Amino acid sequence: MDIIVQKFGGTSLAGAEGREKAAEHIMEARERGSRPLVVVSAMGREGSPYATDTLIKLAREECQNPVGQTLAFLMACGENISAAVLALTLEARGIEALPLTGGMAGIITTDEHKEAMIRSIRKENLLKLLEGKRVPVVTGFQGVNEAGEVTTLGRGGSDVTAVALGAALQASLVEIYTDVSGLMTADPRIVPDARSLGRASYSEILQMAQEGARVIHPRAVEIAMEYGVPIAIRSTYENRQGTLVSNHREPFPGEKRGRRLISGITHVNGLVQITAHVDCSELEEEMFKALAESQVSIDLINLFPGKKIFTLPRCKKGVAVKTLKELKIKTEVAQELAKVTVIGAGMRGVPGIMLKIVSALKGEGIPILQTADSHINISCLIREEHVQRALRALHRAFSLEKQEG
Ligand code: ADP
Ligand code: MG
Repeated sequence: MDIIVQKFGGTSLAGAEGREKAAEHIMEARERGSRPLVVVSAMGREGSPYATDTLIKLAREECQNPVGQTLAFLMACGENISAAVLALTLEARGIEALPLTGGMAGIITTDEHKEAMIRSIRKENLLKLLEGKRVPVVTGFQGVNEAGEVTTLGRGGSDVTAVALGAALQASLVEIYTDVSGLMTADPRIVPDARSLGRASYSEILQMAQEGARVIHPRAVEIAMEYGVPIAIRSTYENRQGTLVSNHREPFPGEKRGRRLISGITHVNGLVQITAHVDCSELEEEMFKALAESQVSIDLINLFPGKKIFTLPRCKKGVAVKTLKELKIKTEVAQELAKVTVIGAGMRGVPGIMLKIVSALKGEGIPILQTADSHINISCLIREEHVQRALRALHRAFSLEKQEG
């Protein structure tokens, strides 16, 4: 049995036209002789009636601090509606379908109600369904813990559901259908001449996902990598191949194997930079311990004698500042910052990349506030208001609009 997982994102399911397209992709998979296993997200983006954010708002209007169990139960409703509606779309076209919650699909998670991790998948029910005539339409983003309570997998969690099901059921492919034509050299909403990559390696896409390319959840890529699940990222609206992700990346025309210098440029908005004036080493350790205990994850970390600099997301600023104040540490806070990252497995050992980045940003008069690098990426902290110009300048500097494939 050739199982293929087809995941449809929220924007693809919000309107009748998108659902029609989704149904066509599902029917095509069946016509090719595969058994489609469909995974869906909640319909629409922020502001849509059944979007996850709307449901969270609804909960908060009713109660300031809802208990995790109830909040997860409500948040999971968005996907339930999607699964039922898409099943109806299929029924109307003569395809028998069955909507299933995460629990019904056998997805068992850890106990947390928010950001739970998938522990195991009891696949008997799905396998039985796949062997029959009905197409299973599974809600993404949710599962149940051992106690049977509804849990959620965090923002973008439907990608994780899709790849985890693909791994458990040994699917031949996991297709991530979305509103852009694949993994692109930058967010096409910001860089209009961004190009879709025909192929990408797991490590390229993992880096891009971790550094802000929203198109797939980094955890989904990790699972795919671990279990060797091939992924395709494609547009719901186009009949194109999109981006194929596997370990074996073909060389592009005119390219020496494995030498694509730069794969893309990503960004993360809404960052805050903290400079903590800490001298004595005991206090330094205490500071990092207190931040960790307050669930503050920090990034772009530079330690100097007497001064520690790091960044965190805007939503963690309050708790971080409070924590440092309690330790009587003098701090400075810079807000409304963003991180832009140039990513490319091919940059390893290639001189002149930093020069290009510095020149491109300098040419736009954009100050670099901090940097960090690994062998396959270079990140710059800049002001959020400069993001659009920075991305476009870097994209141009590395000629990514001409990137083949
Ligand atoms: P879905 O609802 O299908 O899960 P998402 O909003 O989670 O869609 O992800 C798709 C969005 O990711 C695109 O609309 C695009 O604006 C954004 N994006 C950011 N960076 C990239 C990138 N490098 N390649 C493709 N899309 C990107
Ligand atoms: Mg998504």
